[in-house]
Amino acid sequence: MTPDEFRENGKKMIDWIADYYEQIEKYPVLSQVQPGDISCQLPEQAPEQGESMSDIMADVDRIIMPGITHWQSPNFFAYFQSNSSFPSILGDLLSSGLGVQGMLWATSPACTELETRVMDWLVDLMGLPEHFKSTDSGGGVIQDTASSAALAALLAARERKTNYRSHQTGDTAGLVAYISTQTHSSLEKGVKIMGLGTDRLRKIAVDPRFAMDPLELEKQIVQDLAAGMKPFFVCATIGTTSSNAVDPVRRIGEICQKYDLWLHVDAAMAGSAALLPDYRHYFDGLELADSYAFNPHKWLFTNFDCDCFWVADKAALIKTLSILPEYLKNEATEQGAVIDYRDWHIQLGRRFRSLKLWFVLRHFGAEGLRHHIRQHLELTGEFVAMVQSSDDFELLNQPPFNLVCFRHKAGNTFNKQLMDTINRTGRLFFTHTVLNEQFWLRMSIGQTQTELRHLKDAWQLITQQAKTLPLPPENN
Ligand SMILES: *Cc1c(COP(=O)(O)O)cnc(C)c1O
Repeated sequence: MTPDEFRENGKKMIDWIADYYEQIEKYPVLSQVQPGDISCQLPEQAPEQGESMSDIMADVDRIIMPGITHWQSPNFFAYFQSNSSFPSILGDLLSSGLGVQGMLWATSPACTELETRVMDWLVDLMGLPEHFKSTDSGGGVIQDTASSAALAALLAARERKTNYRSHQTGDTAGLVAYISTQTHSSLEKGVKIMGLGTDRLRKIAVDPRFAMDPLELEKQIVQDLAAGMKPFFVCATIGTTSSNAVDPVRRIGEICQKYDLWLHVDAAMAGSAALLPDYRHYFDGLELADSYAFNPHKWLFTNFDCDCFWVADKAALIKTLSILPEYLKNEATEQGAVIDYRDWHIQLGRRFRSLKLWFVLRHFGAEGLRHHIRQHLELTGEFVAMVQSSDDFELLNQPPFNLVCFRHKAGNTFNKQLMDTINRTGRLFFTHTVLNEQFWLRMSIGQTQTELRHLKDAWQLITQQAKTLPLPPENN
């Protein structure tokens, strides 16, 4: 493809994407295809001869689009959002265009220095602890996902606990990690990957609000210490995936200091709320955290993937993950004057992700971002009021952030049927969780284009469908 052909096709592609966003509400939000429906339309062999962009795009429309679940639809309320915005798409496109691989400062100084600056900006914008800044003991790095951030935190915690010997000896004897029953599954996965084994992962009980019980945590640590084990890591969550519960970070942090455990705080979704000063009380105690992660790719209008990960002590992370083979040696690295982000995460190579985040921060400005986050929180309040206005439905709690957990009073089977029936209409997409053996419907309200009218339509659809479904003989 020549630059001129790229110019022509590129403009068409931008038009295609702009049209898509203009028409996005016409598609069924949840893809309606069956397993295999897409693959059976794709040839078994890759093409021998090159094909034209117009043929390829025709197949996008014909084959691919029916198999798309429209994450960017304003009627997408499932899981947690992975929201996006036009400035972010443009930043991502520029990153593709530059095709930079930023493993070392020397492999593109701007890729490293912009990332460091943007991560430092966010510390101020979100009221995070000063020592997370690169100019202080800590520093931030963009990871692909919160899962990778958690794994990096687990590894650094292991090294610190073993005086930076475990990576050499492979000895993890006695190490024990602590999460709650509500912690994201990526922590359990991280423990598996690091070779610790899930037998050495303690799932601490939660209180009636689904937050980790710090008394139970301390009891378990004391018991493990008495048994000769080595407690080394706790993950606290601000905004759990199931119900947006907030663990008591300060109390957990104090326990971690007392027994010398690494505290990782996971705020993958709710982290964006820290932009609003009146929401910062949920983040109280964060200065006791050794590491912290949140996902701009969930609720900060930045295309997947983008996770912001900070550590209080960058030396601990770097000592854990640093490696310097001959072929990567260079003067800037040897002088120690620069950051080489390949030492801050699992993989070596890295995309220029800070571009899209920079575009988002500059396009919206802090004021614009605060406005949109607050709007989602206000819309959440509106939806809560709708649920409360009905005698047939109940709320789990007053949501701290932008996730509403609610259910029809007719029991588990009824709620599941209600959700499945509505999702099959394609008019909206929402999902569920199970808490205390009860089936709860979840509405996550954080899509960039969601407005009050979408929530009103959603509520009308939910209540109408609930009236047409047969009630079960006995409530459960
Ligand atoms: C979504 C989520 C994660 C995992 O996010 P990835 O970035 O996809 O790994 C981790 N923790 C919490 C609390 C989440 O909500």
